[in-house]
Amino acid sequence: MEGKSIVISAPSGAGKTTIVNFVLDKIHNIEFSVSACNRRQRPGEIDGKNYHFLSTADFQKKINKGLFLEWEEVYQNQYYGTLISSVSTVWEKGKHIIFDLDVKGGLNIKNKFLDNCISIFIMPPSVEDLKSRLLKRGTEDDNSLKCRIQKFEEEINYKDQFDFVIVNDNLELACDEVLNLITNFLNKS
Ligand code: ADP
Ligand code: 5GP
Repeated sequence: MEGKSIVISAPSGAGKTTIVNFVLDKIHNIEFSVSACNRRQRPGEIDGKNYHFLSTADFQKKINKGLFLEWEEVYQNQYYGTLISSVSTVWEKGKHIIFDLDVKGGLNIKNKFLDNCISIFIMPPSVEDLKSRLLKRGTEDDNSLKCRIQKFEEEINYKDQFDFVIVNDNLELACDEVLNLITNFLNKS
């Protein structure tokens, strides 16, 4: 049986991983959708938990075999995608699934699952905050930082197509707001 889908989209650095982890800690019948990607693994990331880290050739092979529910070239030469098998594994356990996707992937999933899906866009308070969070996280080199800031300008144009927009200024408040939205959505028949 298909469970419900929760889509969280946000510019990189807006705080979605932090918020998703908070939600996963509070609601136990949700599981994270582990995406595949071809970017390098950051220190502290675990293959199979944060992402399935693939070579570009392996990623291409999976595209050709039709194994993705959706995939995007989120940054130049950087591919990210949701494997059909990752989603069915979660649903077979009788759980709901939470996706961390770029705006296009997020809206694709929403269009597939419609009322069985809630889509939430997380906004940073400003581009300056986004930059300082990415710098503080210390995971991006200059080029990667530049790509992410550029992408932000493009991504915010999509925000009104999401069911809800949450500004992550105060982290505690943003976590509670997202948790409430998801709890209400899951309780709705
Ligand atoms: P994303 O998954 O969207 O790329 P992260 O969850 O990794 O973003 O957050 C980026 C950085 O910003 C992390 O170091 C995180 O601790 C920090 N952060 C998240 N939310 C806030 C906030 N409201 N205020 C200040 N820093 C934040
Ligand atoms: P990061 O490299 O910072 O982990 O993620 C970069 C961007 O890729 C983020 O916007 C994230 O939401 C997005 N992303 C991660 N996994 C997927 C996926 O499976 N599909 C799509 N379309 N985007 C993804």
